[in-house]
Amino acid sequence: MSQTQGYIGRFAPSPTGPLHFGSIVVALAGWLEARKNKGLWLLRIEDLDPPREKPGAPAQIMSQLESLGLSWNGTPLFQSQRLDAYQAALDKLKEQQQVYPCTCSRRDLPPIYPGTCRSRSFTPSLPAHSIRFRVPPVVVTIDDRVQESRGSSLQRDVGDFIIKRRDGLVAYQLAVTVDDAYQNISHVIRGSDLLDSSLKQACLGTALDYPPINYAHIPLLVDQQGHKLSKSTGAAAIPDGKPIACIRQALNALGQPLFPEIDDLESLLQAATEAWSMDRVPKRLTLAAPDPY
Ligand SMILES: [Zn+2]
Repeated sequence: MSQTQGYIGRFAPSPTGPLHFGSIVVALAGWLEARKNKGLWLLRIEDLDPPREKPGAPAQIMSQLESLGLSWNGTPLFQSQRLDAYQAALDKLKEQQQVYPCTCSRRDLPPIYPGTCRSRSFTPSLPAHSIRFRVPPVVVTIDDRVQESRGSSLQRDVGDFIIKRRDGLVAYQLAVTVDDAYQNISHVIRGSDLLDSSLKQACLGTALDYPPINYAHIPLLVDQQGHKLSKSTGAAAIPDGKPIACIRQALNALGQPLFPEIDDLESLLQAATEAWSMDRVPKRLTLAAPDPY
């Protein structure tokens, strides 16, 4: 498998609560793809936003993954331990003049930032500000193994985006970009709700001279009303004590064979790995979650 040598994937949940079924589907896809390619599957806990986090959630997430047989390689990386690396990346972007301070108040801004502060520079007397990435005037494209590969003019569609928040927290986009490079991630498998983030991160990665990443955006699981499953909307955590049923439901969502004759977890995951094909994953942005999930 020379072409897949060096495959390194990752699963990167925020510790805001237990994993819900939509996250399990993403985790399973990443785990199977890594196994199939004889690669690594790393775990990263994205704990950069303390007010949103729940104490004990990282341990809970790890125990859920273990109970589902989805073991990861190495020691989990915690983003809260990586602040120096994010600052170094920010300093590099500053040196390259690819960032600028923004003093606009969020409530005054249209959805696409109009570039109000583009000519502002970093001075000691600056009031409270966020830091924005100066999006270059190019079309950013990413390869996507599930959805159609796409390109976007970030300048037109997104505008200069925040990489350090006014409250001093490093923004998700910068942290993820820096960590994917640090962990030598070659393949990112995530939900389709993060398509825009992938474009931003690909653009940031280029600015930081990181190697490009291969993407696969799995359909986002939605409830009967079409809303994303999430902890905040009360989506149920996965049922305890039913790992086989849960894995089989996730395989179903991913369009894979279900192996109803197999009744132990290890054999099911083994068979699922051998049969795994990304080509079978539905090429859709959203998918109705099974009920009850
Ligand atoms: Zn501004």
